[in-house]
Amino acid sequence: MEKKDIKWSELGFGYVKTDKRYVANFRNGAWDEGGLTEDADIVMNECACVLQYAQTCFEGLKAYTTEDGRTVCFRPDLNAARMYDTALRLEMPPFPKERFVEAVKQVVKANEAWVPPYGSGATLYLRPYLFGINPVIGVKPADEYQFRIFATPVGPYFKGGVKPLTLCVSDFDRAAPHGTGHIKAGLNYAMSLHPIVEAHKAGFAENMYLDAATRTKVEETGGANFLFVTKDGGVVTPKSDSILPSITRRSLMYVAKEILGLKAEEREVHFDEVKDFAECGLCGTAAVISPVGKIVDHGKEIAFPSGMDEMGPVTKKLYDTLTGIQMGRIEAPEGWIVEI
Ligand SMILES: *Cc1c(COP(=O)(O)O)cnc(C)c1O
Repeated sequence: MEKKDIKWSELGFGYVKTDKRYVANFRNGAWDEGGLTEDADIVMNECACVLQYAQTCFEGLKAYTTEDGRTVCFRPDLNAARMYDTALRLEMPPFPKERFVEAVKQVVKANEAWVPPYGSGATLYLRPYLFGINPVIGVKPADEYQFRIFATPVGPYFKGGVKPLTLCVSDFDRAAPHGTGHIKAGLNYAMSLHPIVEAHKAGFAENMYLDAATRTKVEETGGANFLFVTKDGGVVTPKSDSILPSITRRSLMYVAKEILGLKAEEREVHFDEVKDFAECGLCGTAAVISPVGKIVDHGKEIAFPSGMDEMGPVTKKLYDTLTGIQMGRIEAPEGWIVEI
């Protein structure tokens, strides 16, 4: 397979049009057979449900080249399952899980020239999404839907080395109890745009959101779950029904417990105890783990002992182990790596 002539390590995180994308349509109560297309544009009516009432959801995962030259994806079955759950909560017809994984494979295969080589740090980012497409003006779910997956190559997340982030505690809420925080709905991102723009203006990389009901417990950031490391080397992640169940976080908790033999706990985390942790990181598909060096709560600073220069030692071990599994340097738990 001849790869595209791209300076892989200089790529950023932006949209690059690749050769093929997958499309399936839901009409008259059923999904059609779907397939690949070269057409990157979508034509829809001015009154399409997605445009009026934001009936849309998405997923994100990566394809990449392992050390021994295989093209693989990481746990696409969990993306399929999460989009299924999201669709049900948004009154959308879920796309069948087996077909989701099959479509992921088709898109990667058709764009194999765009899968960055091993060692470049770049990956092929896959974006599955589902939206209501027919005209809807009275508030109700659409009758017709489109499911798509496109692929776009993205550069290494940590260009020029890992730099711990500084976060601020947000005055806005990301998700309400019994709301939609646990699903990957586009609307969760629309309402987070203002808080993130404000945070950036104030010089912070991300917002830490607290629970909307009591503002005493840690939730997550706009697009990544928290992991904390205790002073005695255990791993803790916040438990809440309004956190998005990150596949990276769930995988890291498994790695912590089953591979590294660490104490790993999912439990409520009170903001008051954050100052007592030794390390903090953000988990998501994009970076795997981004270390957090400092959290600022209305002028009061919490500086983690791991500092502002590098990842803490436990965070680093988790990061190295999971990326080692993904890149084929460490044996993967059953079913985690799907070969294309
Ligand atoms: C997608 C997402 C994450 C990260 O999930 P991964 O499956 O690890 O990529 C975390 N928080 C929110 C709000 C998200 O939308």
